[in-house]
Amino acid sequence: MALISCKDLTMRYENQVAVDHVTFQIQEGDYLCIVGENGSGKSTLLKGLLGLLHPASGSITYGDGLKRNMIGYLPQQTVVQKDFPASVWEVVLSGCLNRRGLRPFYSPAERQRARENIVRMDIGAIVKSCYRDLSGGQQQRVLLARALCATEKLLLLDEPVTGLDPVATAELYALIRQLNRQGVTIVMVSHDINCSVHNAGKILHMGTGVQFFGSSEDYCRSPLGQRFLGGEHHG
Ligand code: ADP
Ligand code: MG
Repeated sequence: MALISCKDLTMRYENQVAVDHVTFQIQEGDYLCIVGENGSGKSTLLKGLLGLLHPASGSITYGDGLKRNMIGYLPQQTVVQKDFPASVWEVVLSGCLNRRGLRPFYSPAERQRARENIVRMDIGAIVKSCYRDLSGGQQQRVLLARALCATEKLLLLDEPVTGLDPVATAELYALIRQLNRQGVTIVMVSHDINCSVHNAGKILHMGTGVQFFGSSEDYCRSPLGQRFLGGEHHG
């Protein structure tokens, strides 16, 4: 059974359709990249998967016991987030908020979970730093560690490397690949189609509707893939 199954999903804003009759599935262990031009509905689709926006029609079904609170989310970065006045430790630990519920303090197990994900994302040296003083690459790792405190199951990442330099970009991609090998299902919106086909196993090419959904290899061989990859790829 698929982790998430979208069937004929349509999402609209007041004045326009942003996601048009989209059908695709996310399987456990997938690394899926969502590509497509600006305004093609990628971010809207992610918000639909998260339950932040409601479908106009069609359905989103969650399988395998997946609950919406088992989905970790890295939104497209905003200026406000970049200026968040909290320490790295506080930001990572806040990923346990859902688990904590109404208890006033974090439990030892939750603090342990935060420490483990800090090690995993290699940000141990900066736990006491203020989030807003970090580089873009460090901030993204902190947000990844935070998301991993919330869930090990599924991460939705919306253009996570935007604004990062090439070294930080490569490091972040390597970390995301490593998480996927450890069993975390990854759904990533990306601008960079070449990187997407290198990293991901599956591609969803959006253009309001689905332009392509399938394996990265098939995408590289498809006319659409050839066009967007600039003909440099040969499967
Ligand atoms: P992408 O992430 O692929 O760039 P979006 O999902 O952000 O695309 O946007 C899809 C379409 O919906 C665009 O035409 C955009 O202008 C429109 N849109 C996005 N957010 C809103 C909003 N909050 N209100 C109205 N229209 C929106
Ligand atoms: Mg977007």
